[in-house]
Amino acid sequence: QHQALLYQAYHNELEALYLKKLAVLSELKKVLSTEQSELCMFYQPKLNIKSGKAEKAEALIRWNSEKLGFVSPELFIPIAEQAGIIGKLTDWIIRRVIRDIADWQQQGIDLQVAINLSVHDVSDDTLLAKVIHYLQESNVSRAKLSFELTESDLMQDPTKAIAHLNAIRNVGFGLAIDDFGTGYSSLSYLKDMPVTELKIDKSFVLNLATEVNDQNIVKTVIALAQRFGLETVAEGVEDQASLDLLTLLGCDWIQGYYISRPVAPAALIEWFNEQSL
Ligand code: C2E
Ligand code: CA
Ligand code: CA
Ligand code: CA
Repeated sequence: QHQALLYQAYHNELEALYLKKLAVLSELKKVLSTEQSELCMFYQPKLNIKSGKAEKAEALIRWNSEKLGFVSPELFIPIAEQAGIIGKLTDWIIRRVIRDIADWQQQGIDLQVAINLSVHDVSDDTLLAKVIHYLQESNVSRAKLSFELTESDLMQDPTKAIAHLNAIRNVGFGLAIDDFGTGYSSLSYLKDMPVTELKIDKSFVLNLATEVNDQNIVKTVIALAQRFGLETVAEGVEDQASLDLLTLLGCDWIQGYYISRPVAPAALIEWFNEQSL
């Protein structure tokens, strides 16, 4: 009987999750077919340790749904991927980010912005041509844009991924392997991945100051990246002690709440102006 109760609880939970996902998908489809005013892009600066300046930023989508409230990208991005509507969402993201970069350019703020892509995006052969077109329309140079792809996405089909990454690199965009250390990459593939940046996953960084195991992993990843001529970004830096350690270990870029949370474009400009006082 105990087992039956457990099963019932499990069943109810699964059903609730399923219904929630359905609601998210249906609302997301609605948002994408209207003027998309519920969506916006937030930006989180990446600090260059050597220059002490934020020269890059990561674009992170935010969805404040009238019906569902705030919905995390961790929930709705995978749903959009599974439902085959990620392409439409990514197209909106790319156009919005380029528009924001163009705005900043006019205010004298010079940032390279990274956009997160999913595997589905990368295998879309029309993506690059579209991006280049949007950039030209807004008078933004290709050097202002880069892309992040997770290690686990890339390792689903490394040979295919390498071909797509080459196409992106050949056009001149920066490329980062995101969540590095969580996706079991094989070193033989890493050698052939035409990327410019390794992002050390935040699970290794959040407790860096106190966890010796994490310190050893981060040390090893930075040494590895240097061997391959790649820049390193540590994400999830939440305190001064971690920043100090990362500096000592030779990390190139710092990203995390300690520098700034992801913020709306207007708040990013404010943050910038305060930094340069
Ligand atoms: P990600 O690309 O690994 O992004 C890093 C996540 O860590 C972000 O969560 C960011 O807000 C959070 N973060 C940054 N600094 C800190 C810190 O110091 N401490 C902690 N605890 N967290 C920190 P967010 O914005 O909720 O995004 C979650 C995931 O959703 C992203 O992981 C990415 O996989 C996906 N995502 C977000 N925006 C987009 C997008 O525009 N397109 C796509 N395809 N995926 C996106
Ligand atoms: Ca990312
Ligand atoms: Ca990441
Ligand atoms: Ca992640």
